[in-house]
Amino acid sequence: MQHVYTARDQMDAHFLKGILEREGIVSVVQGEMLEGAWGTMPVSSESLPSIWVNEADVGKAQPIIAEYQSREVRNAKGVEAPPRATWKCPKCGEEVEEQFDTCWKCGAERAEG
Ligand SMILES: [Zn+2]
Repeated sequence: MQHVYTARDQMDAHFLKGILEREGIVSVVQGEMLEGAWGTMPVSSESLPSIWVNEADVGKAQPIIAEYQSREVRNAKGVEAPPRATWKCPKCGEEVEEQFDTCWKCGAERAEG
């Protein structure tokens, strides 16, 4: 078998494993047994769960994994910059959308931070 992906955590590994299975690709998650030892050893790429597939499936699995990873990156960006962020007016307490610098209700200036 061949290593095709190193996961951030167990959930990440099993989520991708499920995606590969739906595409008919048999995969195994390696490194799970190390989880209990994380308290005594540093978390490195060797101690993170990794996904392995048969050599014959590597070419088929790689575009699926690439697509999965690009989706993960988009999700991570969405968390950093939520599209509808708001700030709370210091004067009247109204929720105001991020793109406005003054409160639409009372006209108070947005507080720093
Ligand atoms: Zn206000």
